[in-house]
Amino acid sequence: MADNTPIDRSVEDDLGPIKVVRIYDPITKTQGIVVVDNVACGPSIGGIRMAPDVTEQEVFRLARAMTLKNAAAGLPHGGGKAGIVADPSADGKERTVRAFARAIRDLHEYIPGPDMGTDETAMAWILDEIGRVVGLPRVLGGIPLDELGATGFGIAVAAEVAAPYRDVKLEGARVAIEGYGNVGYHAARFLEERGAVLVAASDSKGAVSKPGGIDSSELQNTRREKGSVVHHPNATRMKREELLTVDCDILVPAARPDSIHGDNAKAIQAKLILQGANIPATAEAEAILHERGVLVVPDFIANAGGVICASVEFHGGTEKSAFEQIESKIRRNTAETLERCTQQKTTPRDAAVAMAKERVQEAMTYRRAT
Ligand code: NAD
Repeated sequence: MADNTPIDRSVEDDLGPIKVVRIYDPITKTQGIVVVDNVACGPSIGGIRMAPDVTEQEVFRLARAMTLKNAAAGLPHGGGKAGIVADPSADGKERTVRAFARAIRDLHEYIPGPDMGTDETAMAWILDEIGRVVGLPRVLGGIPLDELGATGFGIAVAAEVAAPYRDVKLEGARVAIEGYGNVGYHAARFLEERGAVLVAASDSKGAVSKPGGIDSSELQNTRREKGSVVHHPNATRMKREELLTVDCDILVPAARPDSIHGDNAKAIQAKLILQGANIPATAEAEAILHERGVLVVPDFIANAGGVICASVEFHGGTEKSAFEQIESKIRRNTAETLERCTQQKTTPRDAAVAMAKERVQEAMTYRRAT
């Protein structure tokens, strides 16, 4: 991320970004960027990505994604994102994060949160430096969203709303989870509470299936104790990629970007896909799935539970109110997205983007024009 290059203006449009700040701290040599995309709905919330190869272009795209996600979720927050060019596993992480925090002290339009390479400990350092952050440890007033399964809970709520659109009944529905981690495990658990049956799951080491059903908590214990779902007893081991095309009703991709692509989208058997990961399918794959009648609830609608939880934490709310808000907001937004795409005959993603943009544009009309 060289800081003598001109800012890439190709990403600029009527929504933003409104502010781009390049950071350099000469003492720690910390280098980074903050992109505040849009603040019409309120101060922006978005994570700090810490990686040696994080690019400005990536931070611009992620900041816009947060504008749409926060607006779609109906939060009083705009979208922003930050990148720190550093290896999070290297010595001196605390010094680097603290230096970055001090550099953004006066950038009040941006509220940092955790992302790749940063966690609740890093957020605690930032709170200590500037007093403005989300994703804190419980002892500092944080709501531990991964431990509670905020995002997985939201996915189960989205499934409840979307299932009737494809004549899927959650009671007895067969679920496959790609990426049995924080999002994937809790999605399975909350779907199971609604009567669904987990029939297959994967992680980075491979996949397992069992058409008769796998207990989600027992599978989580196997992963914790033995390091991977592949060691689960009495389940059939499969290749990692086979998970996506396994016989099931509901598929939750909750691992990496672009795992559903043009080559495997045609073989997917699920009727309903809830995107737990961010951009788990390419645009080509989403078009193929739409054409085939597979209903895809897009990432920034289905996986908004985490950011809703973060917003409730920022405003001093409790765990209980976080879950109430996730339930009501995801229920409403999934329903509105699916109604719009039925009426307007568009894809769910196009409908969701249009809905989010309308909300941002409406909020912008209340802002001073000159
Ligand atoms: P995590 O690290 O807890 O879990 C990821 C899981 O995916 C792990 O089990 C890992 O082994 C597995 N995995 C990695 N590569 C894989 C592959 N190629 N095939 C199959 N499995 C693979 O992460 P997480 O917090 O559950 O996040 C998962 C995704 O959801 C990420 O894309 C993240 O950005 C997104 N997301 C997370 C949250 C949240 O609240 N944690 C919110 C919104 C979006």
